Amino acid sequence: FSTRHDKEKGVNVQVIVRCRPLSEEEMKVRAAPVISCNESRREVTSVQSIANKQIDRTFQFDKVFGPSAKQKDLYDLAVSPIVYEVLEGYNCTIFAYGQTGTGKTYTMEGGARKKNGEFSVDAGVIPRAVEQIFKILEAQHAEYNMKVTFLELYNEEITDLLALEETPKFVDDKSKKPIALMEDGKGGVLVRGLEEEIVCTADEIYKILEKGSAKRRTAETLLNKQSSRSHSIFSITIHIKEVTPEGEEMIKCGKLNLVDLAGSENISRSGAREGRAREAGEINKSLLTLGRVINALVEHSGHIPYRDSKLTRLLRDSLGGKTKTCIIATVSPSIQCLEETLSTLDYAHRAK
Ligand code: ADP
Ligand code: MG
Repeated sequence: FSTRHDKEKGVNVQVIVRCRPLSEEEMKVRAAPVISCNESRREVTSVQSIANKQIDRTFQFDKVFGPSAKQKDLYDLAVSPIVYEVLEGYNCTIFAYGQTGTGKTYTMEGGARKKNGEFSVDAGVIPRAVEQIFKILEAQHAEYNMKVTFLELYNEEITDLLALEETPKFVDDKSKKPIALMEDGKGGVLVRGLEEEIVCTADEIYKILEKGSAKRRTAETLLNKQSSRSHSIFSITIHIKEVTPEGEEMIKCGKLNLVDLAGSENISRSGAREGRAREAGEINKSLLTLGRVINALVEHSGHIPYRDSKLTRLLRDSLGGKTKTCIIATVSPSIQCLEETLSTLDYAHRAK
């Protein structure tokens, strides 16, 4: 076989905003909603009173989903087209970006996946994407192979969520298998020591996801709410055998990265101090670098600072060039979150 390798240029970054409903706690304290979404105009407006003057700010995005949007709506309108691109041989990445508590994990993973064999309304992007990929491949009678990886990036250190070893008993367990990043000389990065699982059915992937998520949750209690400071990256790589009209066999390779980013909140406000500040600084480093990389890509800047963080090194072959990127920025409608919401909207808007 020969591997198809188009060197097509052009950046494709799509930025979406999703505003969740007010939570029960927010309703209990009668938090005022200050964010309004106009889905048809693709606009998000924030309303703020400063010195008795009402100040509105309106941002436009590629798509906007308001509090009543369901998981399926977001999937069908924003994610499903990307899955088709993956099966056409693109490397695609979907990021959930936003303040902790605004629905990143809900959007990516969601609640219970199935109810009576049907998707539950809460099932998120990952299970829906997995299901769609298998459906399309089956309908095409495609000959393919698929592998998945699932890792977590915390404090610029990678943890393999698929490794079979036990969850570390201590926070800085030195018996952990080291995972190193190396450039492969072809613009990609090799992650040495990372498990890749070959999968043949959607159910196998769901099992892997559950195992990985459970591991993430255990680590979370050990590390005291690690998840708000860690990024998780679930990747599916698919090789599909194709026969050209000339009868030549080819392998089309596509990859889908589903990334649940660390909370974007400002560390000074979350009360981080000293030891924590370094950690938080590292997280911001990955988030900041991601922002810079995406800005450099959309502005066609010559230098793309991939090397400045592990997150961007890991995703290098899926950012820029023949790739598609979708950022789902999640926000709360509550007045209590307004400051963070505005910084999320600014970050997301800069990525457009
Ligand atoms: P994050 O991962 O950004 O910290 P979560 O995904 O854990 O936030 O969401 C926080 C809470 O809000 C969860 O209880 C989640 O179920 C709920 N939630 C988030 N987004 C929505 C939504 N669009 N509709 C209903 N509930 C949501
Ligand atoms: Mg989360």
